[in-house]
Amino acid sequence: MNTVRIPKTINYGKDALSDTQYPKNALVVTTAPPEVSKKWLTRMKIADYMLYDKVEPEPSIETVNRVIAEFKPKNPSAIIGLGGGSSLDVAKYAGMEMKIPKILIPTTFGTGAEMTTYCVLKFDGKKKLLQDERFLADVAVIDSYFMDGTPEAIVKNSVCDACAQATEGYDSKRGNEFTRMMCKSAFDVLYDAIMNNKHENYPFGSMLSGIGFGNASTTLGHALSYVFSNEGVPHGYSLSACTTVAHRFNKSSFYEKFKEVIEKLKFDKLSLKMPVDQAADVVMTDKGHLDPNPIPVTKDDIMHLLQDIVNGRM
Ligand SMILES: [Zn+2]
Repeated sequence: MNTVRIPKTINYGKDALSDTQYPKNALVVTTAPPEVSKKWLTRMKIADYMLYDKVEPEPSIETVNRVIAEFKPKNPSAIIGLGGGSSLDVAKYAGMEMKIPKILIPTTFGTGAEMTTYCVLKFDGKKKLLQDERFLADVAVIDSYFMDGTPEAIVKNSVCDACAQATEGYDSKRGNEFTRMMCKSAFDVLYDAIMNNKHENYPFGSMLSGIGFGNASTTLGHALSYVFSNEGVPHGYSLSACTTVAHRFNKSSFYEKFKEVIEKLKFDKLSLKMPVDQAADVVMTDKGHLDPNPIPVTKDDIMHLLQDIVNGRM
């Protein structure tokens, strides 16, 4: 049997943000400063809401607990996560704990977090990936309106993540016909959007990628990327090289096209401070990403791949 979990309602496309009906007395959580969130909230035409705008990037469980302590006594009707991955993750966890509907509105596009049962939060200073079907959105709102004004580096890193997730998700051993269909469509949309400068299609592609990989998993490319993330490289940027060499290793049908996309987006070569041997040990512990990889991977393989990445051998 295969199980597919997606949000109850998905509102996407032009004017999705302004045409969605928001309940009264909802709690909006965001990382955005007041001058930005005010513009968004006006466009949403939302009335009688509460606002928590102190979500920090890479939030911790303490932030979630602070939100619950401050707002649960005020009986919010729903929680609205408005922003990048950080805002959505806090809304997912707090909404589950408070047992209220979750409305997720991504303002950057790539993680597909608005579609998935995943939630990333810091516990004792360490990032932890949690999965629970109760994290799923009741309503997801996807509108390319937010693309305007997003810094180019963020757009580029995010769309690279979406491409990596779609293609790794397609090859994942945890996939099924449905997830492969979604991942394939996602990459087709993203490839066309990147190669032909149709940036307004990134949100739709990212949404499809989230539905696909969110019900399968990512694989070797993501496993390799975390040693770079640990040294401060943005997630999407580290995937540019990591997923390329992973696709080559896996003989993925996406290898050539993924490389084209990376070249078009123009990413700089990655470097690694940690010795390759040590980094390979870290990667090898990531069973969550290595087990679903289509081909078994040894430490030796990982060392060669990391060496290729830092030498720019794609
Ligand atoms: Zn990712």
